[in-house]
Amino acid sequence: MSSLRFKMVAEAFSKKPLVWQVRPERVDEYFACKVFTREKMRKYLSEDVYQQMVDVIDGGVRLRRAVADAVAEGMLCWAKEQGVTHYTHWFQPLTEGTAEKHDSFLELNGKAAIEEFSGKLLVQQEPDASSFPSGGIRSTFEARGYSAWDPTSPVFIIDDTLIIPTVFISFSGEALDYKAPLLRALHALNVAATDVCKYFDPDVKRVTCNLGWEQEYFLVDEGLYAARPDLVLTGRTLMGHDSAKNQQMDDHYFGAIPERVAAFMRDLEVQALELGIPCKTRHNEVAPNQFELAPIYEDMNLAVDHNMLLMSLMRRVARHHGFRALLHEKPFAGVNGSGKHCNWSLTTDTGELLHAPGRTPQQNLRFAVFIVETLMAVWRHNGLLKASIMSASNAHRLGANEAPPAIISSFLGTQLSAFLDNIGKTASTDSHTEVDEATQFQLHGKQGMKLDIPEIPELLIDNTDRNRTSPFAFTGNRFEFRAVGAEANCASAMIALNSAVAEALVSFKKRVDERGGTFHAIIDVLREDIAACKPIRFDGNGYSDEWKQEAAQRGLDTETSCPVIFERYLAPESIQMFEGLGVMTRKELEARNEVKWETYTKKIQIEARVLGDISMNHIIPVATNYQSQLLTNVERMRAIFPAETAQKYNDRNIKLIEEIATRSAAIETMVEELVAARKVANKIEDEHAKAIAYHDTVAPFLERIRRQIDKLELIVDDALWPLPKYRELLFVR
Ligand code: ADP
Ligand code: MG
Repeated sequence: MSSLRFKMVAEAFSKKPLVWQVRPERVDEYFACKVFTREKMRKYLSEDVYQQMVDVIDGGVRLRRAVADAVAEGMLCWAKEQGVTHYTHWFQPLTEGTAEKHDSFLELNGKAAIEEFSGKLLVQQEPDASSFPSGGIRSTFEARGYSAWDPTSPVFIIDDTLIIPTVFISFSGEALDYKAPLLRALHALNVAATDVCKYFDPDVKRVTCNLGWEQEYFLVDEGLYAARPDLVLTGRTLMGHDSAKNQQMDDHYFGAIPERVAAFMRDLEVQALELGIPCKTRHNEVAPNQFELAPIYEDMNLAVDHNMLLMSLMRRVARHHGFRALLHEKPFAGVNGSGKHCNWSLTTDTGELLHAPGRTPQQNLRFAVFIVETLMAVWRHNGLLKASIMSASNAHRLGANEAPPAIISSFLGTQLSAFLDNIGKTASTDSHTEVDEATQFQLHGKQGMKLDIPEIPELLIDNTDRNRTSPFAFTGNRFEFRAVGAEANCASAMIALNSAVAEALVSFKKRVDERGGTFHAIIDVLREDIAACKPIRFDGNGYSDEWKQEAAQRGLDTETSCPVIFERYLAPESIQMFEGLGVMTRKELEARNEVKWETYTKKIQIEARVLGDISMNHIIPVATNYQSQLLTNVERMRAIFPAETAQKYNDRNIKLIEEIATRSAAIETMVEELVAARKVANKIEDEHAKAIAYHDTVAPFLERIRRQIDKLELIVDDALWPLPKYRELLFVR
């Protein structure tokens, strides 16, 4: 009798929603109460220091040491009032998580204990970080790593600790994290986009990038989770037969939120709001026990920090409510996986959304330029963008039923498509001199450019035209990069996307300037690009097999092997782009790929080990146990009944005994082969080749072994089965 499983199911059923002290205030009273916001800076810093901080944050002015000291003093004062005793530099190493090491404010002044926090401690630390992945960068003679304060993301408080967002770099200045290259890419994009904006509005001085992420996740009862070693160790179920009912009734999506879950969500939201994360939307997702949280979009650097923070908060709050939050992209086969749609757009400091249609022909021309150059970026670097969202876990999601396929393309909807095609169709005028600059728009209007279709803005904003299969879809005033995985740091995808768009805008401006920098030149280059990026536009069904063939013909990247896709980072055009924009050097790219390959290998290695263990220690013993019960039954039948009758009664038993024998033998053989394949792969020194070996020779066994186990689950006595089944994991809450 499998006691743990049944005990956990019984306990889970009897759990009640957790009651906790709800904040009595309205959200506007406590929002960001744990953040050192501008408002608090104004209160705790002198006017002069405050002003200098604003220059640093908004104007990109370099921070002076004296200012840092004064800021640290103000922060300490605020933190002490909040009962804070410790501080930490918080960074985002290449592990998909965050890292922190807490130090107290305690100092000894002679014999007296005092609390101190200086600008030096605020600005820079040297974490002993030799065990963070660096892809070999830090194993050279200088193994130091530094964390440096990012003043553009405000410090905040968790429990008794002041958390300081930082970048993490090596002694020689290479990025060892996600934040450093993200900030560089945002800078490059700001410069490139501002330059292009100046064609339309000379007052634009700055372009910022917005990110609104939508975090999907599963909740599983903690007891059931504990009874699944595969979930505990790998974050996903390595086996489990489909539940007879899963998502086919579409009855979970947007349904009433279960009570225990609602209590969790409220608790999570309050804590997130206190930290300044502007939580907006919560709902049930498509799969049973799957949910989503989305905030209001923010400046990208802050949005990325907030997402990292939210993921760790989510894991923690879930445990208080007797749940485990699963952020893995595909914790359960056969039902939807979890993504993290990244809504991306650009805003000028004059308040214009560059991916939103405008009201005047001029605004619509600018809109067209930003749409088309974004498409150029995605077209030119579609393979790289796929690499930027790829991981061992997200690979299960892409191309599966609900998720975008492993081919990057862009959906624009009928109206925007028609708008661009219209511009593209009109014949180009080669004599620029004929036209007076001031009357260009009328001219283009006369040429049938239809840049001034008055109904377009409204129609586009209310665009109901949607395509869920598209990995990169235009949604009215932004693009939605849907291929990003639930567990990922959004920065990975955003570094690639921002860089690619920056490069496209630089190239656009260069070509326009070569042709005199007039509106006419803009339209000419735009036409060229509309034609060039056509292959990336796809409004059809991304799941179909025909699309795979067609995409290949269009020259889009159709590779599906995760470790091979990572190679796109080292393609000449990628290196040229990242180096050209000052986002990452070849050395950094190479080092980061080492980390990617190593991480991939380790993930498959752990899954292979866990599956081998569970097969041999859980599944086969239980199947054999049931088999011997059946054998005893067969013998007893023979003892009681005449031979022919016994034979008749035993038919089914014997079939089952045989099936258990063949499936168990198949599992045993495959586990041996799996171990042998791992041994061969482990001997490979080169991380790249090793990851490919793991993908090609080890990973396929995971599916094949699972298939046999799932069949056994269907025939073995339910009372003996040790692992919580899908129906329990997905429906108990
Ligand atoms: P969906 O219908 O895809 O769920 P929502 O309207 O709920 O979309 O928005 C999803 C996310 O997109 C939210 O985080 C929202 O703030 C964000 N968002 C909305 N407009 C923009 C924009 N212009 N740029 C970036 N993000 C945006
Ligand atoms: Mg969405």
